[in-house]
Amino acid sequence: MNVSAATNVFAVIGDPVAHSLSPLIHNAWIAALGADAVYVALRVDHPHPENAIRSLAASGLAGLNVTLPHKTAALAAASEIDKTAKAVGAANTLVRNASGGWTAHNTDIKGFARAVETALDARPTGARVLLLGAGGAARAAAFHLGETGADLAILNRTRANADELARQFAPNAEVAEMSELARLSEQADLVVNAASIGHAGGRLPEFAQGKGRPFLDLSYGRAAQSAIDQASDAGWTTHDGLEMLVAQAAAAFRLWYGESPDQASALAACRDRLAVTS
Ligand code: NDP
Repeated sequence: MNVSAATNVFAVIGDPVAHSLSPLIHNAWIAALGADAVYVALRVDHPHPENAIRSLAASGLAGLNVTLPHKTAALAAASEIDKTAKAVGAANTLVRNASGGWTAHNTDIKGFARAVETALDARPTGARVLLLGAGGAARAAAFHLGETGADLAILNRTRANADELARQFAPNAEVAEMSELARLSEQADLVVNAASIGHAGGRLPEFAQGKGRPFLDLSYGRAAQSAIDQASDAGWTTHDGLEMLVAQAAAAFRLWYGESPDQASALAACRDRLAVTS
């Protein structure tokens, strides 16, 4: 890499962000394209993150990915918002626009769509999907599942958050307490775990026997391990969130460069990195 004053700087911003795999993914794609660019991780800890994000445009950053807890601030910081990001109420990708500000996009939806299609080996239209969680990742999931006509049930630790999610994106969804996992997983074609339960070492309640049905955890690495082990022990075919991560990154790369990067090599590099660090 030959960094000069003309090099374009891209970044993922969040807090925390030191664990992010995005620099690994994007710097490999930048190198493969031969672009004069570098991708870094920046911790943004600011009382008004939207101001910090605007100032990154004024500082000349070429593009941003945005992770927790700044995905709604990214919308507020943008001078233009695409229709999916507006509908979901969160942005994870910012692209510089003609006025020098940011245009906000949400590529988590595309990432989730790809992960679901791999897990189900089909689009989710008409499938009975049990969604665990009602935070930011669950919003992207519920939006896509609602759009594609899945038959959705939502379970969450805080029932009111699941009710609100259903109200916004899937008014016909069944909403229940997390303790209903065994009963509702009995009828599901797919279980999606978007609850960050594994980050603090927590466990999901009991599952019904999976009999080979798919279980998709949106977390990856150590955070996904406990739920994936539980589901696997109960006979589910398990998938982690790395494919979603790489697919949302690829969609961001296409917005910045108009090129489709090699997702298979990025996925392999992420798995290698996690194997070394876990
Ligand atoms: P949020 O903080 O927005 O939401 C967290 C969700 O998990 C809420 O529904 C919360 O419930 C639930 N939860 C948290 N702790 C527990 C617990 N101990 N027991 C039960 N439920 C709990 O996080 P995100 O939605 O952004 O992220 C969720 C997961 O998805 C994370 O593991 C994250 O790494 C992953 N993710 C993966 C992506 C990918 O590209 N693969 C992209 C984005 C996220 P409550 O409403 O009760 O607080």
